Amino acid sequence: MANNILVFLEQRNKQIKKSSFEAVKAASDIAAKIGFELFAVVIGDEINNIEDVGNYGILKVTHIKNSQLHNYSTSAYTDLLASHIKDIDADIIFLSNTSLGKDLAPHLCVRLDCGISTDCISLNIVNGEIIAQRPIYAGKALIDVKITSPKKIFTLRPNVFSTGVPSGTKSEVTIVNTESINLASKVTEIKKSDGKIDVAEADIIVAGGRGMKGPEHFNLIEELAQVLGAATGASRAVVDAGWRPHGEQVGQTGKTVSPTLYLALGISGAIQHMAGMRSSKCIVAINKDKEAPIFQVADYGIIGDVFEIIPKLIEEIKKIKQ
Ligand code: FAD
Repeated sequence: MANNILVFLEQRNKQIKKSSFEAVKAASDIAAKIGFELFAVVIGDEINNIEDVGNYGILKVTHIKNSQLHNYSTSAYTDLLASHIKDIDADIIFLSNTSLGKDLAPHLCVRLDCGISTDCISLNIVNGEIIAQRPIYAGKALIDVKITSPKKIFTLRPNVFSTGVPSGTKSEVTIVNTESINLASKVTEIKKSDGKIDVAEADIIVAGGRGMKGPEHFNLIEELAQVLGAATGASRAVVDAGWRPHGEQVGQTGKTVSPTLYLALGISGAIQHMAGMRSSKCIVAINKDKEAPIFQVADYGIIGDVFEIIPKLIEEIKKIKQ
């Protein structure tokens, strides 16, 4: 056994994502407990913040560079990462459970013929082995997972693991220029709503459901989100109805989120919705039905009409901010 851990760093628009720094910190905590050596790798063209990885505990970072890899490619990333894992002889591989991580990790798992635990929300060491905890049954229960294959892949839910306090240490970067890459599949364009915060990365989310009665009332959700500096989210019911874009959908078939604050407004709290948001640190629900299931997971609940309460919230928050 080689006793090496590798963290895959995800970049978008020349920046390594915060969720990757969370994975770096989680991996460095694990490495300290089991005495493994730590490595990180990023694939892409120009990347601006590679040295920051040192802040969170990894000093050796490899940048696999190619000008055609500005955007993600399943085929190229799988080839390059699998080969890098073999080169450095890593036994434990961490990725973030982002859209990219959810696509890449299973491909890698098949390529390396190893076990995988996805969407982990905690990692512990028991008898020298990593025990990962992850939700099952749409978040209704948690399961402890031990991977028994020699190589092991873990994907970590974003916003659950802390990055800790940046240490101010810079990492040492090795650039590996790669010429021949397999672009059998690649992302050609990423469309993002102008100026909007991505619900999967937001620290505060204001989400609206069918209780908002129609797309014309989502200006209330947007205004509240704006005063809070939040992202807007939605239940599937309103996405299916065409009131909101799919990129905002939270839940089992949407995005999994773990913000510091989640406001569920006119959302009943179906199990499939809660699968995507119940690990939020603080949940506030407004619903006129006191029996709505969302109140079972809410830290604060207001039984009332969203059309009366949201304008008052906006007004009060504006006053506080002045
Ligand atoms: P409803 O369930 O209709 O709830 C509306 C709520 O608004 C009610 O609780 C009502 O009391 C309240 N309300 C009404 N008027 C007001 C008012 N004026 N003021 C305050 N409250 C009011 N759903 C998701 O969200 N995400 C998913 O990813 C997802 N994936 C799914 C996958 C599968 C396989 C299936 C079968 C379903 C999935 N669903 C998902 C759908 C899910 O089961 C629910 O149908 C959906 O979440 C309901 O959305 P909602 O809460 O907006 O609507």
